[in-house]
Amino acid sequence: MALRDYERKRNFEVTPEPKPSRRTSHGKLLYVIQKHAASHLHYDFRLEWNGVLLSWAVPKGPSLDPSVKRLAMHVEDHPVEYGGFEGVIPEGEYGGGTVMVWDRGTWEPEVADVDAALAKGDLKFTLRGEKLRGSWVLVRTPRGWLLIKHRDEFASKEDVLVKQPRSVVSHKLLAEIASENGGDVEKAAKGDAPPKTSR
Ligand code: MN
Repeated sequence: MALRDYERKRNFEVTPEPKPSRRTSHGKLLYVIQKHAASHLHYDFRLEWNGVLLSWAVPKGPSLDPSVKRLAMHVEDHPVEYGGFEGVIPEGEYGGGTVMVWDRGTWEPEVADVDAALAKGDLKFTLRGEKLRGSWVLVRTPRGWLLIKHRDEFASKEDVLVKQPRSVVSHKLLAEIASENGGDVEKAAKGDAPPKTSR
């Protein structure tokens, strides 16, 4: 049910993205960020919940600086298997472009009732990724959700997007993933270049 939009938008005869097969989770909840050089570069932030990956597209990517609020656009649920996808979505297909597993690990809610927190638009959680750790919040505002780091020992002024640009799975840059999978290397390489704005 929740994956209907995901299926509707994709032609699985053409895209290498996984076909949904609802799986039940075993204990720990998956957290993943996929860097996606589509028509516009963005970071897809995903949290496993109720057997799917809740998903937000973060155009500027996450910031470790608690004073920086990053817009996170809520998008369709993705299958849990999607969290392992790294490769090239063919041009002309939905989301066409190169995808990198930029960070991956587990997450834990900091609230007793996740569904209620999501409905209210204020979800606090802990990330245990390779790059992002500690306490974060997703908060819904009239112009969209915001992804914000809480103050803790993992907060930093360092730009993690610039310092750690590579895949946590293959250790490749977007251009390398594009080149090895028949993707648009030039477009992917633009996503590897440091962002023009830091906020
Ligand atoms: Mn995307």
